[in-house]
Formats: sequence, structure tokens, C-alpha cells
Amino acid sequence: MAARLGLPLAPVLPVRLCPLRDPLYALLMGYKESPVAEARGRFAPLVRDLLRSFLVAHGPCVAAAAGGLIDHVLAVPSTARPDGPPLATLEGLAAAVSVALPSACWAPGLLRRSRSPEPPATFGHMRPDARAFEVAPAGGRAGTVTLRGTRALLLDDTYVSGARAQSAAAALRLAGVAAVAIVPAGRVLRPERSAAHDAFLQAHRAPPGPGADPLQRCARCVQVAAPTE
Ligand SMILES: [Zn+2]
Repeated sequence: MAARLGLPLAPVLPVRLCPLRDPLYALLMGYKESPVAEARGRFAPLVRDLLRSFLVAHGPCVAAAAGGLIDHVLAVPSTARPDGPPLATLEGLAAAVSVALPSACWAPGLLRRSRSPEPPATFGHMRPDARAFEVAPAGGRAGTVTLRGTRALLLDDTYVSGARAQSAAAALRLAGVAAVAIVPAGRVLRPERSAAHDAFLQAHRAPPGPGADPLQRCARCVQVAAPTE
């Protein structure tokens, strides 16, 4: 994927590992896809709180992964939804971000799906392409000048192949952003179908039992702490 994008992949710090059969997956789909409004309304604050507690606990890890304080926070743009990604309008998320990352500015409109000349025909969930997204003129305020050298955080509900999130990260880099980190609420794994996912899950799943806190360590904490343990 990095070769196809022509840029190194952005670091990914998932809030939780999310096997497809986990109730978390139902939650991360349900907050936007459930046909029942009451269910969407019940799930949405849970998704927001997952992201908020992670960012409060691991804001320094996110900044370290990006090589410095975060300037812009936005949701990975949607490729199919005309109204944009559900996370961008998730109630209370902007406030949660400003508490967790005081240096950062909530910029939900910074990126949009490319409109000109044509969205790349090859783009899909498995085909990363930086041209799939572009910096929106209004979203970027003064445009790319203000983006140059800044650092961005992309939030997403789920990270499956990563093509969409990594394409968005690459589009930001091409617009001058110096570094991008990606925080998905759930890194979707399919242990039944993929031996690599199964092995990854076994190696990284927090040990079950009282006192086990999956938020205690993020991918960055684990990386940093590992050599000294
Ligand atoms: Zn951390």
C-alpha cells in the first residue's frame, strides 16, 4: 500500500482491536448504520466516549507518533455518504477533542472526496489512492499555506484495509501536512479468515480478567515500553 501511495504509511493507533464477531463491531456499525434511530442514538455516545477516553489517556502518544503536537483533527472523509462521515457530526466529539488535545483545532471539513477532474476510477476499499481526497478550499481556510508543516490526526470508526484512511493521510501529506496519525475506534480483524489476524490478536489482546484495562496501553505505549520490559 505504501508503494501505491508513494508515501510511507501513517502510524495507526487503534483504540481497540475489533474482531468481526466482537460486540464492539456491532456498536461501531450500529451508531451509523442501524435502521433504528433509538439504537443509533444509544450507540453514538459510546463511540464518542471510546475516542475521548483514548485521546485523554494517549494524547501524548498520538503526538509522539506524529512527531509533535497535533494541529488539526478531522474524521476520515466518507467515499459514499453525501453528508460526510458520521464521525464528523458525532455529538460532543469536537468538544472531547479540544479537551484531550488542547493544541489541536477541530477541522471536520478539511478534506473532501475529490471532485476534479474525476474521482479516480480505481479507488475502492482495497485500492489506496491519495487523489481520492483533496483539501477543501474552505476547510483549509487559507489553503495549503496554513497546512504546510502542521500535523494532523485522522479519526475513524473502523479501520479495515486502511485504504481509505491511508489515502486521506496521503492527501493531507501532499497538501503540505508534515505528519499524520490515524486513530480508529476499532481495528477490524478477521481471525477466522486470516492466520495473520489471528496471530496478531493473540499477541496483542489484553489479558482477560479483573483489572485488565484495554485503554492502559496503546500501540505507541507498547512500542515504547516493550524494550524495557
Ligand atoms: Zn499510549
